[in-house]
Amino acid sequence: MTKKQRALEIIKRLKAEYPDAGCTLDYEDAWKLLVSVRLAAQCTDERVNKIVPALYEKYPDVSSLAEAPVEEIEKIVKPCGLGASKARDISACMKMLRDRYDCHVPDTMEELLKLPGVGRKSANLIMGDVYGKPAIVTDTHCIRLCNRMGLVDNIKEPKKVEMALWKIIPPEEGSDLCHRLVYHGRAVCTARTKPYCDRCCLSDVCKKNGI
Ligand code: SF4
Repeated sequence: MTKKQRALEIIKRLKAEYPDAGCTLDYEDAWKLLVSVRLAAQCTDERVNKIVPALYEKYPDVSSLAEAPVEEIEKIVKPCGLGASKARDISACMKMLRDRYDCHVPDTMEELLKLPGVGRKSANLIMGDVYGKPAIVTDTHCIRLCNRMGLVDNIKEPKKVEMALWKIIPPEEGSDLCHRLVYHGRAVCTARTKPYCDRCCLSDVCKKNGI
């Protein structure tokens, strides 16, 4: 089985297993997803979803958040951890959106990557979820599962995993696949315990089982 064949089979099966898998961060506007992704670094999506309503109640749009004192942002986002640096990035990012993009979130990787605090993972999430463009989000679940399943060979660096996956995954499938990998990584192919291969829908196509 080639990597490409394996990938196509995995895509098909995970689609059946998690038909409605989507982003687990709550957001209504693109700029809010940018904020949430920054807050989600070393924090759970669940916690981020609980924290952000207070932030948006006080600062309901890009301009008001851009004008907010960094310390005030930090006070609210502190429970997500790394409060000072996250608040600094969010403030700088909102200022750039206000000053250069008329408060809109840009829709190219190149421009997204210029925003403070926005790395490839966040930029891909915006590209896929907000703009429906090809995207591959290499978070911790994606990297762990792709290595176990044999879609990549012992590659841990997110950008390298992303580049390897672009070669074997149909571009239009990337974004949804990555969401499904998160679901599967939480429920079955877990990080902290042994993966539950005995009840995995991929057990006969997974490299971990010698296939
Ligand atoms: S068979 Fe095991 S290692 Fe492979 S994806 Fe399923 S749970 Fe993970």
